[in-house]
Amino acid sequence: MRRKLELYIHIPFCAKKCDYCDFLSGPAAVSAQQRYVEQLIEEIACQSAHYPEYQVPSVYLGGGTPSLLGAKEICQIMEQVKSVFDLEEGAEVTIEANPGTVTMEKLKAWKESGINRISIGLQSADDVELKNLGRIHTYDEFLKTYQRVRQAGFGNVNIDLMSALPGQTLSSWRSTLKKVGRLKPEHISAYSLAIEEGTPFYQQYHGHPELLPDEDEEREMYYATKQILHDMGFSRYEISNYAKAGRECRHNIGYWTGTEYLGLGLGSSSYIRGIRFHNEEDLGKYCRIRMKEDSDDRLHQGHLRLTDKEKMEEFMFLGLRMMRGVSGSEFLKRFGVNMWNVYGDVLTKLMENHLIEADSPFVRLTDFGIDISNYVLSEFLL
Ligand code: SF4
Repeated sequence: MRRKLELYIHIPFCAKKCDYCDFLSGPAAVSAQQRYVEQLIEEIACQSAHYPEYQVPSVYLGGGTPSLLGAKEICQIMEQVKSVFDLEEGAEVTIEANPGTVTMEKLKAWKESGINRISIGLQSADDVELKNLGRIHTYDEFLKTYQRVRQAGFGNVNIDLMSALPGQTLSSWRSTLKKVGRLKPEHISAYSLAIEEGTPFYQQYHGHPELLPDEDEEREMYYATKQILHDMGFSRYEISNYAKAGRECRHNIGYWTGTEYLGLGLGSSSYIRGIRFHNEEDLGKYCRIRMKEDSDDRLHQGHLRLTDKEKMEEFMFLGLRMMRGVSGSEFLKRFGVNMWNVYGDVLTKLMENHLIEADSPFVRLTDFGIDISNYVLSEFLL
């Protein structure tokens, strides 16, 4: 069987920077966006030559706001991917889209180009909360985008939501979950807001917990998420991700289970052949790299070869985020050693405290373990 390589393609442009966002993204002139796409297309061709033994099971166009680019640019990127990589039959190809940037023309072109999954950034169904976040759209605009996506024939849609927002109450969060659940998307991601240094939110809210939902409210929102989405037919398959049966995100599952991935575009991260690295993060410098001549010296940075110990830790950290847990047989296959020989003491202690449960060959977090997953996962540091 061919080795698997997931592709992540970064589009770092947004209509406007949201106040909580610390991603490598922001507004840029159309000419800068076009120059970036030209460079990205060259990078895709040059990088593909290094990985002839791999087949690609999934592609993820993330950002930023990939849907901000014109239909033509996204099609050019996809054409290049298909012509230089060996894309598996039926590969999952996702594009992130934000309300206010999606036209029917774009949707039709995306479909033609092989994109078969759309991830829409909504965050909240409450217009005041959206405004507080600095988002460019209202809930109504999201609804128009969602309807358009369905009209264009996309049958695999994710909606991103965020809890613990400024001004959010348990009741408004419950209402967001119910409104979105009733739309019957195939997948919902529901994360808690993290206040990141360097953002306007950090200046506004760091050191002012009274302006945000407190720990108890946050916990109640978390329980409401699980209950409401479960009642509406979504299964939780990862700590913050819910899906209808068979609609789990294959790209993310690959990431959580250690499939190798290649990041293409500004600042994107890769993990291949046991080495982790990332791309140049400065847009100007990235666009000046001569892809054919000096790409690997100037494009790829921060190389880190993982030791077996680090690989085992990562296998446990990421794998235990998934509700199915980690497989002891897979651990043995990968590392040539029994998981219980490496982690026996930790596993026994966590089982005695009802934080994990074993169901051979799997070990998984219990509901209580998920509640305090940060602590449980930290126990797997070797
Ligand atoms: S749209 Fe997404 S990537 Fe862009 S600024 Fe807002 S949160 Fe960040």
